[in-house]
Amino acid sequence: MITRREWMCGAGSLVFAHVATGAFAAQATRYDLIVKGGRVIDPSLRVNAVRDVAISGGRIAAVEPNIAADAADMIDARGKLVVPGLIDVHTHAARSKEGPGLCLADGVTGWVDAGSQGADHIGDTIAVAKTSPQQGRVLINIGRAGILPEGDTMNIARADVAAAKDAIAKNRDYVVGVKARLSRDVAGPNDFEVLRRTQEVASSFNLPVMIHMGQTVSPIGKLIDLLKKGDIVTHMFAPPPNSIIDDNGRIVPEVLAARRRGVWFDVGNGMTGHMRWDTVEAIMKTGFWPDSFSTDWNTNSHMTGVIDMPNCMSKLFGYGMTLDQAIARGTYNPARMFPLFNDRGTLNVGAPADIAIMELREGNFEYLDNFNNKIQGKQRLFPSATVYAGKRVTRA
Ligand SMILES: [Zn+2]
Repeated sequence: MITRREWMCGAGSLVFAHVATGAFAAQATRYDLIVKGGRVIDPSLRVNAVRDVAISGGRIAAVEPNIAADAADMIDARGKLVVPGLIDVHTHAARSKEGPGLCLADGVTGWVDAGSQGADHIGDTIAVAKTSPQQGRVLINIGRAGILPEGDTMNIARADVAAAKDAIAKNRDYVVGVKARLSRDVAGPNDFEVLRRTQEVASSFNLPVMIHMGQTVSPIGKLIDLLKKGDIVTHMFAPPPNSIIDDNGRIVPEVLAARRRGVWFDVGNGMTGHMRWDTVEAIMKTGFWPDSFSTDWNTNSHMTGVIDMPNCMSKLFGYGMTLDQAIARGTYNPARMFPLFNDRGTLNVGAPADIAIMELREGNFEYLDNFNNKIQGKQRLFPSATVYAGKRVTRA
């Protein structure tokens, strides 16, 4: 039995021991990981300089010129770029179990599967999100059968409001928005009604809508008027018919109004019909630049013009976008689109330590649009290493 006196003594020596450890710790801080000597580009902090990044307990502990302290692990990033983990808001990573791990190796530390499945099979994509090594969530396709070769909502009955609401109510933690694919080969003449129903579902849960625009039956202006603040337009570089730019090189007025009220515009690179260099050039010239890059990725993307998120982020250098501007559109901007990423897209001290280490190589690089047109670029970003939640990710 411990007497009061002994207990007091014990407490006293514990206090002493704690002070002693504290004094020692002040002399020799030991971090879990230091990313050493890379060029840190973090638009959220307006930093573009050579810095060390120290990590403790899964969070950013310091971003400073020379961190002399010891660390359990060290990544030599000299000659490389060190940026916040990339956030890809339009992927199809949840179509297969391997998807999330593959894009994590490309530097993607947060992903959103954009409507691979609807109410009937939403559980399939959620199962992948639940076992994903990094944060991953899904948009539910308003078409209850998900993506269909014959068109998700060509039969309007598939845009089933009750089924979508029921699926969201049962999966509030994993469904972060509602997707409507509106092209003429997906929704046909139903595009407007499909979007009206999508908004009815999303608004009742206060969730964003993402529309897949381009080659619609209805004019883009008529569709975009249905979007609210926080909604996302993907495939913003889709060529005519119904591109965001008219034949006279002017951005459609309803598109300008949508940006003013807080609708986001996203690249959604993809493979078919979403991006053509002449349209990209015309839109970039007006100054109506994307808020975010995204890949429209799947596990075959490395065989296509998409390749990976860093490659997609390199495609607008030739149209005047700077490296810092490209990185903002792969990190900080997309992180603001969904609440789950609100503490991501930054290397601020205290933030979760999600980091993409990339190489910016100089040379002659070929960039493909979705129509097999090529442009040449002098620079391209390549993934090099990823840190997720403070731990080095090993490439498969
Ligand atoms: Zn897609």
